Amino acid sequence: MAKPLVAFYWCASCGGCEEAVVDLAEDILKVVDAVDIRLWPVAMDFKRADVEAMEDKSIAVSFINGAVRTEEQEEMVKLLRKKSQLVIPFGACAHLGGIPGLANIANKKEIFETAYKLTRSTQNPKGIYPQTTTDTPYGKLTLPEFFDTVKTLDQTIEVDYYLPGCAPPPELIMQAVTAILEGKLPPKGSVLTVDKALCETCERNKSKPDTLAIKDIKRISHVIADPEKCFLAEGIICLGPATRGGCGERCINANMPCRGCFGPTKEVKDMGAKFLSSLASIIDVDDEKEIEKIAESVIDPIGLFYMYSLPSSILKRKQGV
Ligand code: SF4
Ligand code: SF4
Repeated sequence: MAKPLVAFYWCASCGGCEEAVVDLAEDILKVVDAVDIRLWPVAMDFKRADVEAMEDKSIAVSFINGAVRTEEQEEMVKLLRKKSQLVIPFGACAHLGGIPGLANIANKKEIFETAYKLTRSTQNPKGIYPQTTTDTPYGKLTLPEFFDTVKTLDQTIEVDYYLPGCAPPPELIMQAVTAILEGKLPPKGSVLTVDKALCETCERNKSKPDTLAIKDIKRISHVIADPEKCFLAEGIICLGPATRGGCGERCINANMPCRGCFGPTKEVKDMGAKFLSSLASIIDVDDEKEIEKIAESVIDPIGLFYMYSLPSSILKRKQGV
């Protein structure tokens, strides 16, 4: 019997999700045995023309990591949508916008100015920026358009399921592949893990007092956190209350607070706002000046509360830039 065809593709991402596939270790042999990989630019030499030549819906599933930042990425994910029965955003950047999505606090002009002019290591006295077409003595060179706004995969094409995480843990990847191969998938649109907050499965929850009350916020880099105690109860920001569990508490087990890469649970619309409201409810200070001081002690609120989720938030991007 012919094996199901599978594609892996990457958009605006760091490559960590590609590593996650390799992290399957010997399980990757089971995957390779069960499926026929037809696109995986990081590992195999298939071209866009190979995908274009395939029949529509002939790929059983496309796993796409990374957010959508350029015209080329938009074209490729639209092509993969046409050719695939299932499309699954693979990892936090495709699912929520991820770290590349934090660029939504600026626009293309500001990003180009910083990257190609203002950085100390850049020498660009004529202020030349990348162009979509450039005439050279050897012919016309082209580059894809760089969009103003980073988008999640589901803001660009219809998707079927979500595989969360930065990067998705190997166990979740194997569970998803097995569910697809066995045709045992949950309802369309599901995130392929549990739908409960990380705090519910976190071992440190037991150490939480009945009523949380903090008088200041500490930066994790400035303290040695007690490995037995709940970070939040110690005044260290941990996004566990607003984040979906299922990650295996990888950060918590390494004595680092959660930063929200699994995204929100089903009921939460905007995880940054949800976390802010839980944080506000545990700050046990009445004096306005003191409250301002605590708020100011969070150096980069967007980078902290929306580290992985700015493009998928209600705000989506900084407005008016
Ligand atoms: S706030 Fe963080 S440390 Fe505390 S119980 Fe939740 S996930 Fe665990
Ligand atoms: S603890 Fe939070 S940031 Fe770390 S892997 Fe789990 S969901 Fe992601």
